[in-house]
Amino acid sequence: MTNHLYDALFGRHAGSDATFLILADGQTLSYRDFLAMIGRHAQALRAAGLRPGDRVALQLEKSPQMLAVIAAAIRAGVVFLPLNTAYTPSEVAYFVGDSGARLLLADAARAETLAPVAADCGAALLTLDADGGGSFGALARGQAEDFPTEPCGPGTLAALLYTSGTTGRSKGAMLSHGNLLSNAEVLVDHWRFTGADVLLHALPIFHTHGLFVATNVALLAGCPMIFLPKFDADAVIRALPRATAMMGVPTFYTRLLDDPRLTRDLVAGIRLFISGSAPLLADTHREWEGRTGHRILERYGMTETNMNTSNPCEGERRPGTVGLPLPGVELKVCDSEGREVPQGQIGVIEVRGPNVFQGYWQMPEKTKEELRADGFFITGDLGRIDADGYVTIVGRAKDLIFSGGFNVYPKEVEMALDACPGVLESAVIGVPHPDFGEAVVAVVVAAKGVTLDPEALGKHLAQEIAAFKRPKHIAVVPDLPRNTMGKVQKNLLRERFRGLFQA
Ligand code: ATP
Ligand code: MG
Repeated sequence: MTNHLYDALFGRHAGSDATFLILADGQTLSYRDFLAMIGRHAQALRAAGLRPGDRVALQLEKSPQMLAVIAAAIRAGVVFLPLNTAYTPSEVAYFVGDSGARLLLADAARAETLAPVAADCGAALLTLDADGGGSFGALARGQAEDFPTEPCGPGTLAALLYTSGTTGRSKGAMLSHGNLLSNAEVLVDHWRFTGADVLLHALPIFHTHGLFVATNVALLAGCPMIFLPKFDADAVIRALPRATAMMGVPTFYTRLLDDPRLTRDLVAGIRLFISGSAPLLADTHREWEGRTGHRILERYGMTETNMNTSNPCEGERRPGTVGLPLPGVELKVCDSEGREVPQGQIGVIEVRGPNVFQGYWQMPEKTKEELRADGFFITGDLGRIDADGYVTIVGRAKDLIFSGGFNVYPKEVEMALDACPGVLESAVIGVPHPDFGEAVVAVVVAAKGVTLDPEALGKHLAQEIAAFKRPKHIAVVPDLPRNTMGKVQKNLLRERFRGLFQA
C-alpha cells in the first residue's frame, strides 16, 4: 500500500529541481530541497517517539519549516493539528489536551510560555527557531533519505483541523487522506491550475483555506507559490506582477483597494483572483472589477468539508453567489427535519461527497447530530439555490433572528444597510428583548470621512425593508470585530449589546 496523500502531493516531485517556494526575501526553495526537509522532519517526529495515529500540535509562525513538519506528519502517518498563532497559552492547552497530542511544536519565542502548558498536558515540547536551527532543527538533522514512508489509505486520518470558533468553541474536524486529496484534485481541475501558474500565498497555513485549498492545489498542480509570511498590502502589491493567481479572504481585497498602486497594469499577468472564508461585499466585487478588470471568483467551503461550491473559471461568475456545487459534491437546501425545501426557498445547506469529513474528534453526539446516516453533513449555513443551480449563502442558522414571531435574515438587513449612503459595512444581530423575544440590532461602520446619523439611517431603511426587519437600535462603531480569517465575530457583538433592552 502507498501513502495516499503523501505520494500524490509530494512523492511525484522527488528529484525535481522545479521551484516550490519563492520567499519574501526572494530566496527560492526547490521541490528537491523541500523533500529533503520533509525527510529530516519525519525522522525528527519518529525520534520524538511519535507513531502512526499519534497527534502533533503545531503553534508555529508561517514558514517553509512549518509546511515541512506538516508534510512530514503526513508521510509518517502522524495526525497533525496546526493551531492559530493568535491563540493564548490557555487556548493552546485546551487544544493539546482535547487532541491528546503527545508533542507540541512551537517557535522558540513561545518556549517559555508553552513549557507549563505542555507539561500539564503530558506532551513533549520542541521548539523551532526561525532559521530552523533550534532544538527541533537539531533533531531534524537526521538522515532524510532513510525514512520509510508510512502506508496510509484514503480513509486514514490525516489532520485534526479545529474550526474557526466563530459560533462557539472550536471543534476538531477529522479529515482523512481521501478527503484532502479528492478536494485538491477537483480544485486543480476546476480552477485550471497548471505548472505554469505562480500562486500568491499570503494566507495563514493553520486554516483550511491556506493549507488544504491553496497549498494542496499548488502542490498537486506543481506550481510555485510566492510564500509571504502574512498578509501585508505593500508586500502583496509588490508580488502581484510575478503571480498568475491569488487566493484570499475578503479583507485582503478591501485592503488592496485602499492602495492607489492597484491598477490594471499591476495585475496584467494574473488570470484568477479567488475569495472565500467569509462573504465578499457587493461593493468590493464592483470596485475590484472597475479597478482591475477582474471579476473575483467566490467559492464556499468550511473546515469540515473543504470546498463545497465555486463560481466557474470560464462560465458566468455571479456576484453575491458562491457559484455551483463542485463536481462530486451533492448539495441540497433543507428544513430542520432534513426535508428539501422547494427550489429558491431559504433553508439549511447540507452537503455530501468525498470532501465531507469523518466526524468531530471526541464528540460522537455532535457528530451524530450533524452528519446524517446517509452521509449528508448539516453545514449550519442558510442558503438557497437558484433555478440554474447557483448557490447563495444568506448567513448562519445560529445568527437567524426570531423577532416578534418573524424570521429575520441578518444578511438581508445588512445588504439594505450597506446600500445606504455613507455606510462602509454592517453586522446585524439579534439581542434579547422583553416583548419581541429578540430585537434586531445593527452595528454599522461609516465610510471614510463620513459621520453617520443613526436616525437618518433608520429613516432610509424604512423605505427599503419591512418594519419587522428594521433595527430597533443602530450603533455606529469604528470597525467590526473580526478574527484572523476576516470573519465578523457576531458572538462578541451579541455579548456587547445583550443588555440593551433589559430593564
Ligand atoms: P465554527 O464552526 O467554529 O463556528 P467557522 O464556521 O467560522 O467556525 P470555518 O470552518 O473556518 O469555521 O468557516 C466555515 C464557514 O465560513 C462556513 O460555514 C460559512 O459560514 C463561512 N463561509 C466560507 N466561505 C464563505 C463565503 N464565500 N460566503 C459566505 N460565508 C462563507
Ligand atoms: Mg463552522
